[in-house]
Amino acid sequence: MINVYSKIDRCSICFLHKPLCICEQAKSIQVNTKVKFHFVVHANEWKTVSNTVRILEMLLINKEIYTFADGNQSIHTSWEKLPKIQGSKKNVAILFPLASVYLNVSANVSPDTDAPTNAAADTITDLIIPDGNWTNAKRIAKKIHLATGAPFIAIKSDRKSSYRLREQPKENFLSTYEATILAIKYFESDSTVQMQIEELFSFFDKFVERSLWVNGRIAEEDLKYPLDKSSKQFYPRKFVP
Ligand SMILES: [Zn+2]
Repeated sequence: MINVYSKIDRCSICFLHKPLCICEQAKSIQVNTKVKFHFVVHANEWKTVSNTVRILEMLLINKEIYTFADGNQSIHTSWEKLPKIQGSKKNVAILFPLASVYLNVSANVSPDTDAPTNAAADTITDLIIPDGNWTNAKRIAKKIHLATGAPFIAIKSDRKSSYRLREQPKENFLSTYEATILAIKYFESDSTVQMQIEELFSFFDKFVERSLWVNGRIAEEDLKYPLDKSSKQFYPRKFVP
């Protein structure tokens, strides 16, 4: 399929077409978590338009982003600066579905009924989240585990991924964005943060939908977040994917 709108400039932050940019909205959804999120992003992944850590970077206050570079492509701090577990203080974990410990979060129950299933999880202060395509993310996860000694944890949820920009290797696998939001839902007790969860998922759906629109993969009548008049003028021609 030919994308008739490929000549429209993209925003340098969210990578969507400028008329569809979601960066301003992101500024109104600032999430202040107790847990600090450390994203380790493969350098190639950072350049992709479908990367979701770039979106999280705008939303989360308590976070750090590191580059995992195979070559000389460091964009952020090197992943080798990640926090290490000090002595017996096991408060750092790697969020990745290689985990031996699964934390249960149902997507459809209210947060106050989500009792932690693992006492150790209560002490987590720092979560490390590998990001890349699945092959790279798995490699990053293992390297981090060896370097920091941090254990793996994963979130078990009945939530289906709405990340329609890439094929997931398994049906229940989630994007980095979705896994992060579920971790926030699990670890954060603050009611203000809990009230932001659905807003964060809606914001993600909007990003996915607009990315599909940019790629000519969704029809206008199927948009859950319709384009406003000022954006629509950039897309005068109707196209059907
Ligand atoms: Zn933007």
